[in-house]
Amino acid sequence: MTPPSLPHQDLNASITSVRSVGARSAARLARLGIQTVRQLLWHLPSRYEDYSQSVPIADVVVGEKQSIQGEVISIATRNIWPKRMTITTATIRDESGAIRAVWFNQPYLEETLASGTMVSLAGKIVLDKRGLYISGPIYEKVGSTRSDAGTLVHTGRLIPIYPETEGVTSKFLRFLIQPILEHLNIVDPLPDAIRRAYDLAPLSDALRVLHYPESEEDVPAARERLAFDDLLLLQLKALRERRFIHQLKSTSIVMNAVYMRELIAHLPFTLTKDQRVATLEILKDMERPYPMNRLLEGDVGSGKTVIAFLVALHAAREGHQTVLLAPTEVLAHQHYKTLQTLIQNIPDITTAYITGSSAYLSDKEASKPAVKKAIRAGTAHIVIGTHALIQQDVLFHSLALVVIDEQHRFGVHQRAALMKADRGSTARIPHLLSMTATPIPRTLAMTIFGDLDISILREKPKGRLLIHTKVVGAEERQAVYDFIRSEVKSGRQVFVICPAIELPTAVAPVSTGKTLKQTKLSALWAQVKAVEDEFKKLSKDMFPDLKIAMLHGRMKPAQKKTVMHEFKEGWHDILVATSVIEVGVDVPNASIMVIEGADRFGLAQLHQFRGRVGRAEHQSYCFLFPTDDVTANRRLKAMTMTDDGFALAEQDMRIRGPGEFFGIKQSGIPDLTMTALANVELIKKAREAAVTLMKTDPDLKRNPLLAQQVDRVQMFSHFE
Ligand code: ADP
Ligand code: MG
Repeated sequence: MTPPSLPHQDLNASITSVRSVGARSAARLARLGIQTVRQLLWHLPSRYEDYSQSVPIADVVVGEKQSIQGEVISIATRNIWPKRMTITTATIRDESGAIRAVWFNQPYLEETLASGTMVSLAGKIVLDKRGLYISGPIYEKVGSTRSDAGTLVHTGRLIPIYPETEGVTSKFLRFLIQPILEHLNIVDPLPDAIRRAYDLAPLSDALRVLHYPESEEDVPAARERLAFDDLLLLQLKALRERRFIHQLKSTSIVMNAVYMRELIAHLPFTLTKDQRVATLEILKDMERPYPMNRLLEGDVGSGKTVIAFLVALHAAREGHQTVLLAPTEVLAHQHYKTLQTLIQNIPDITTAYITGSSAYLSDKEASKPAVKKAIRAGTAHIVIGTHALIQQDVLFHSLALVVIDEQHRFGVHQRAALMKADRGSTARIPHLLSMTATPIPRTLAMTIFGDLDISILREKPKGRLLIHTKVVGAEERQAVYDFIRSEVKSGRQVFVICPAIELPTAVAPVSTGKTLKQTKLSALWAQVKAVEDEFKKLSKDMFPDLKIAMLHGRMKPAQKKTVMHEFKEGWHDILVATSVIEVGVDVPNASIMVIEGADRFGLAQLHQFRGRVGRAEHQSYCFLFPTDDVTANRRLKAMTMTDDGFALAEQDMRIRGPGEFFGIKQSGIPDLTMTALANVELIKKAREAAVTLMKTDPDLKRNPLLAQQVDRVQMFSHFE
């Protein structure tokens, strides 16, 4: 075979610069995300097939995938009607014997592998009534002697199998990649000193091993080398981000310890130790003349909000404003009410509230212009709202602190817009406090969110009852219903959550040309049906004497509101609902959460559902009913082991992988790095290397290739 391309050193060159790649192939390759030579070389095999041992034809074994070598003795193609297919059959012979090779729809092989050709074939050995044959083997021509086998690309060794797409087979990819590897001579962006310090292979070697390993044992180290590069770039970017942030100007607010002590003494409860530490960490950050970039992590109910309010009050006392952004109006409103209660006995604090639908100043509804005016003048100290606040062009007098609740629900751009919200007189960058119930490990946070600081609330406020959680098999269902009846008799209420029933239409294959909208619609219908069926079952058969209501996505907003209100007021004993119940529902009298088809939900969702009960003094219960055929499920088991959302989330991340878990699959971080994000040791090494590099060469002047690549790294940043 003639080499399809010249040796290529410029990794950023377009894929079309590779010989044999024309416009059509380029378009197909693009579907695999391959547009440059680099992307081609970084398109790594998903696995390897072992054809390293070619066997004498006499020794082939039925059912095995094997590699043979020999001479084509005869080859012929015939048509099979009426199927419009062709079969090409060849006979291959070596010293030990002969065997047939059979291909469908490749009539050109008659020419390519004309009789007399020496070939290497690899494929599955099959037995039919005429004897053994090798089925649809991958093939390549070899020299006339066996010793030429060293240059085999497709057979006679470990063969890379790549992620493929229509029109781009592994065979085609091998045909493109192998010749490039053969003459690979690229500049290694990693400084030698670092490479040696961490015992990493040169880049060219690692690439060669990854595509054509001598043995699969060599693969992990080579993968690690490539992952290290990506992690190093992320770390360098994070350190640069930190340096950049340190150059920005913020309002420095010196801590007023006396006032803080007063505020804390004022609270209706005692802060947990974690809460006190976090508060102090935030106040210390805000003393600095550059912006805080801190993440406050804590499970639902761990008491994050009160910390935000304490530091906001502290800022207000020093004459500065705070804005708190919530992801939904319901949550914004809840925060506002909490804040009102908190400041009852604190003099001289004015609060403001702005969402898409309403506006308040202190406890009175006000017109939006009036509220905006107060914010502009600085007479409103603490402002609460939703993202509508950003769109409404609110200007501040002296915005010192931005608090974002459930930060993952805000887009990167929304956050960035907010950081520029202080277009008032100070022209300083506000301090940023993000709050989240998702536990992001420190290493991971540094890697994907830039170099932010983290405070963690692990300890729950005192007096929280543990919710009893149980996975219930079919044989115990009746016992649970009896228990439900007795709880209802003593005045409690019950949630029943249903997953979507799988309707036949909802699982139609992608290729039917269904639009996304149709698929979503049928998914919605599946949920409605599930709720209606369950409602019927419970109200007719199980509990004809109890009051039961239902809630699902096909109901009008007003209807939903009414049902929720009635349930909260105790009009219904049982509420059958879809996952709409997940956020913002507060019914303290409810003590039982039943989840049907529990194995269909993710851990985070299950934990959220469970959080709907146990919100008052009543001992509460969560019953998980799995689908019939699921007995042991790791997620359900995890639910019964702990009600610590952090522990669960860590488990979830282990089960699903960091990419899925954080919803960062589409972030542009390569798969390889994504996997490496679970490799804490490697992250630490990359971190260390980045710190060393930045010390000796802060602007990467001596490592221009690295500098170039760092510039291309995308990272979530609040401050850019
Ligand atoms: P998060 O936002 O972390 O989910 P919240 O800040 O909404 O949690 O707090 C949940 C509830 O716990 C609130 O009613 C709050 O007043 C209360 N709370 C917060 N800290 C404490 C504490 N240290 N002791 C008792 N109750 C607390
Ligand atoms: Mg909260």
